[in-house]
Amino acid sequence: VLCAESISKSFDSNKVLDDVSLTVERGELVSIIGPSGCGKSTFLRCLNFLEIPDEGTVTIADDSIRRAGGPWKSSDEALAHRLRAHVGMVFQSFNLFPHRTVLDNVMLAPRVVKHVAPAVIEAEARELLAKVGLEAAALRYPATLSGGQQQRAAIARALAMRPDVMLYDEPTSALDPRVAEEVLEVMRALDREGMTQIVVTHDLRFARAASDRIVFMDGGQIIEIGDPDEMCDNPRDPRTRRFLGASV
Ligand code: ATP
Ligand code: MG
Repeated sequence: VLCAESISKSFDSNKVLDDVSLTVERGELVSIIGPSGCGKSTFLRCLNFLEIPDEGTVTIADDSIRRAGGPWKSSDEALAHRLRAHVGMVFQSFNLFPHRTVLDNVMLAPRVVKHVAPAVIEAEARELLAKVGLEAAALRYPATLSGGQQQRAAIARALAMRPDVMLYDEPTSALDPRVAEEVLEVMRALDREGMTQIVVTHDLRFARAASDRIVFMDGGQIIEIGDPDEMCDNPRDPRTRRFLGASV
């Protein structure tokens, strides 16, 4: 479903990503862990074209969206537009539109992009809100919701475009543990339905219990990719060992 090959990215003289490659298969849940500043968010943003790699290729949805690194060209806009229908993104800070109801937030993108009757879009949006446990909050405004509810609304909004892949950047870092659990449960449910998900997280317990694979990054590189139990019990690289030792 998604393939990143030899991605490199620098900000000025600071090489933030150095030859990072990752292939994610349909239905996988992959967690990305690593110390602060190691390039996790930048890598995720490269997958979504929010950041443009200097080198390397990103391929999404079976070759229909493919871009090699290098300066952004105006011809890339159409590609980015297509990409947005294929890749849903959820941030740490929810990023809902504050002056729109939860339902409107979820309906916004499909209403602009899809040529379907409004009633159909609303029905689909309500179905997604039910899926994340928010059917009763459809007409409320984001500020009146808990952080966990806002994040679940953000997930429903990202799902509204029927993406092939969901990307999450620390979706529960701003939440207290009990509320975070509601969000993680939504992600587990999506996993059971076969959604492909890539999650940058500091939550090692979730990463170990829910992921198909864990990616450990350090210093702009992928140090180790592996089975969660294997990596947590027997990290191969000393840097992984040190990070896991410090985090648990
Ligand atoms: P954290 O766990 O703290 O979120 P991270 O692994 O997500 O860290 P990134 O946000 O990808 O790390 O940042 C990697 C490095 O790139 C950091 O040194 C950061 O300061 C730098 N960086 C990120 N974005 C930019 C930018 N737009 N301009 C300049 N430097 C940046
Ligand atoms: Mg980050």
